[in-house]
Amino acid sequence: MTVRRRLVAGNWKMNGDLALLAELDAVAAAAAAHPGVDVAMAVPATLIAPAVQRAPGLAIGAEDVHEADSGAYTGSVSAAMVREAGATFTIVGHSERREYQNETSQDAWAKAAAARRQGLSVILCCGETGAERDAGRAERVVQAQIEKSLPEQAHGDWLTLAYEPRWAIGSGRTPTLEEIAAIHAIARAKMRQLIGDAADGVRILYGGSVTGDNARAIMAVPDVDGALVGGASLTAAKFVPIIEAAG
Ligand code: PGA
Repeated sequence: MTVRRRLVAGNWKMNGDLALLAELDAVAAAAAAHPGVDVAMAVPATLIAPAVQRAPGLAIGAEDVHEADSGAYTGSVSAAMVREAGATFTIVGHSERREYQNETSQDAWAKAAAARRQGLSVILCCGETGAERDAGRAERVVQAQIEKSLPEQAHGDWLTLAYEPRWAIGSGRTPTLEEIAAIHAIARAKMRQLIGDAADGVRILYGGSVTGDNARAIMAVPDVDGALVGGASLTAAKFVPIIEAAG
């Protein structure tokens, strides 16, 4: 049976500054105290290099990369750029990118490929909107997203899937544990259909209003291999309990 290490990943989104990097000290200490848990933090591109300098023991990543290697894309940041800054991974396909930048699953696929060309690990996000869930389409939406965005030769050594229902992000609302279990099971099954046994090695994180209070119960759900954490990753006081819950 494949053993998947737990991963607790933070995502600062468009928050933070140099002063906030001080929070990483306690996060790094908690990571060191829980060697059985992988801990990662995605930060704004401008903070990657100083974050790596501040917390060399933590995996620091980007929140997004452009799908092209370089070129005339004013304002965009490439996978090579974030790698040079010290990032070891990037998130792609986050629902906020899908909502505000109109990114599609095909875009997420292309971004994952760009990240791979630079040797970055990838956290690939999927998840339904509230309207899609209300219409009873959550499972089909997630299956279709995975089908369209799962990278070539996906492997658990570098790929993590994150299930983040759009309506649960930043809302304080979470699906029931049964609903989380159902989606994670169909996500695993869909990956298995696409990449066979390699699917067993790909971690699937749950994301959306994860806190120190609900993390333990959520991570006990079958096929939940960790958490992707937004708001609660901004302070060590809120993020460290989630690491502890995983350990
Ligand atoms: P949240 O965000 O934890 O603030 O709900 C999660 C995410 O968007 O990754």
